[in-house]
Amino acid sequence: PQPVLAVVGRPNVGKSTLVNRLLGRREAVVQDTPGVTRDRVAYDALWSGRRFTVVDTGGWEPDAKGMQASITAQAERAMSAADVVLLVVDVQVGATEAEEAVAKVLRRSKRPVLLAANKVDDQRTLAEAAALWSLGLGEPQPVSATHGRGSGDLLDKVLEAF
Ligand code: GDP
Ligand code: MG
Repeated sequence: PQPVLAVVGRPNVGKSTLVNRLLGRREAVVQDTPGVTRDRVAYDALWSGRRFTVVDTGGWEPDAKGMQASITAQAERAMSAADVVLLVVDVQVGATEAEEAVAKVLRRSKRPVLLAANKVDDQRTLAEAAALWSLGLGEPQPVSATHGRGSGDLLDKVLEAF
C-alpha cells in the first residue's frame, strides 16, 4: 500500500485547490462556498517517481457537538488514517482559534505534520506566512495553490516525511 497524505484545514483555505496542484491535474472540487467537500476523497499522486495517496478532507462544519469538537474529530480521523498530515492555513486570514485548536491536537500526533501557509500570492504575504510559526508545527511552507508557487518544495517535504 502506498503512503497517505491527509490534507486538513478550515473551509475555504484552499485545500482542494492545493490538492489539485499536488496532483498536477484538476480533480478535487474547488468552490467559493465553504465546506463543499463533504466527505474525504482520495486521489493517486506521483512525485519524483514515488506514488502516494492524497486525501482531501471536508471543511470543519460545526456538527451537533459544535465547531471545536468537529475540528478535533477531523484532525483525529486524519491522523489515524494518514502517514503524514498537512494542515493548510490561509495567510490572508491567519491562524484563528480553529487553527490553534487543531494544532494542539496535531502536536500530540505521532505522525509527521506539515504546515502549508496558502494564498502567499506575492512577496507582501510572505511575512504573514512566517507568523504561523506560532502554531508550534514547525516551519510554515509558503504556497500559492492558485499560482503554483512553492508546490514543488512542499511535495519534496511530503516525500521526506513519509
Ligand atoms: P477548501 O474549502 O479549503 O477546499 O478551499 P478551495 O480549494 O475550494 O478554495 C477556496 C477559495 O480559495 C477558492 O475561491 C479558491 O480559488 C481560493 N484559493 C485557493 N488557493 C488560493 C491561493 O493560493 N490564492 C488565492 N488568492 N486564492 C486561493
Ligand atoms: Mg475543498
